[in-house]
Amino acid sequence: MVGVDQVLERLATVIDPDLKKDIVSMGMIKDLELDSGRLKFTLELTTPACPFNDEIERDVREAVSGIEGVTDLDLSVTAKVMEGRSLEDDMGLKTVKNIIGVASGKGGVGKSTVALNLALALSRTGASVGLLDADIYGPSIPLMLGIKEGFMEVDEEKRKLRPTESNGLHVVSFGFFGEQDIQAAIYRGPIISGILRQFLVDTDWSDLDYLIVDLPPGTGDIPLTLAQTIPITGILVVTTPQQVASSVAVKALGMFKKLNVPILGIIENMSAFECPGCHETHRVFGSGGAERISSEFGIPHLGDIPLNSGIMAGSDSGRPVMLEDPGSPSARAFESAAKNVAAQCSILAARIAAGEEPGAPEAEAQAQEQAAQPQQAGQALGARA
Ligand code: ADP
Repeated sequence: MVGVDQVLERLATVIDPDLKKDIVSMGMIKDLELDSGRLKFTLELTTPACPFNDEIERDVREAVSGIEGVTDLDLSVTAKVMEGRSLEDDMGLKTVKNIIGVASGKGGVGKSTVALNLALALSRTGASVGLLDADIYGPSIPLMLGIKEGFMEVDEEKRKLRPTESNGLHVVSFGFFGEQDIQAAIYRGPIISGILRQFLVDTDWSDLDYLIVDLPPGTGDIPLTLAQTIPITGILVVTTPQQVASSVAVKALGMFKKLNVPILGIIENMSAFECPGCHETHRVFGSGGAERISSEFGIPHLGDIPLNSGIMAGSDSGRPVMLEDPGSPSARAFESAAKNVAAQCSILAARIAAGEEPGAPEAEAQAQEQAAQPQQAGQALGARA
């Protein structure tokens, strides 16, 4: 008669392509019951946005189908996002599993557009997502989400700010504070750091799988404060293809690396323009910026977002392309990038669970060595746009 050990042995042959570990030792098999050949269990994936969810489920079914004596399979598939940051070390923000800072070397590369559409794409997978618009000098998220009268309520009992809800996202923006966004231009160092800290720690974020933080461009006080105030999962860098943009992105990258903050990867925005008339692809801003950085720094290239008037119009009209045209190639590019970002968060979470300290130079050198076998970083991503 078939036994539970035999079933687990077979399931252990299924390897999560991102984590490169078997699903049994990663604790993804839950509530397993075996009764006279009838097998029942839950496959708990590390994020609903994993690019390999379908592949893992297929491999699980295949592994089980080969076991003699198993006559029936009742498989439930769920996802529970892993903690991609050390909550133990965080005194103020224990209900947020992953914090992702979206950075760029300079303004105008579409960082806010990417941050917003990624947040929406993650939310569409079923994850619980917050968006903190920390671009203190040019908060654009309220406009992009069509929030005309954004405001922040204070929960007197909890003494916390309450985020605004918009299209399934929990949103906090400096733009909600009336004249403050104009005054922000004169704020410096400690005041700015204090405001960011309040937004992070004094907000009732509830239980979030992912908090996306749209940082101001460059290497100023806000990115520095984010890197130093609380443990974050990692930084996502947005660049455009041209040399000048990618070389300033390198500066931002260098700062986060120096602060031992893990880098999730790089996304190239305004990558190529597909002409609706001639259907040819035009590389208006040149090519290869993100790929260059990816191979130079050994960080994953997580996606390419096309240059598209729909993306621009969506942001300007308060209906981002992920909401307005979810089936479009642009939305699919965001979806694919979001899955790759979520996968990187799971990889970091698994490293933390294994007792590593992602971001520390030795840990990074080791992780890069492992990632290089059998695939090179940046080429290992199945669901690239
Ligand atoms: P940043 O946050 O880097 O300053 P924004 O996200 O505010 O940049 O974008 C700058 C401008 O570029 C906006 O008008 C936005 O709609 C537009 N934009 C961003 N990404 C794209 C894209 N992929 N295709 C077309 N327009 C874009």
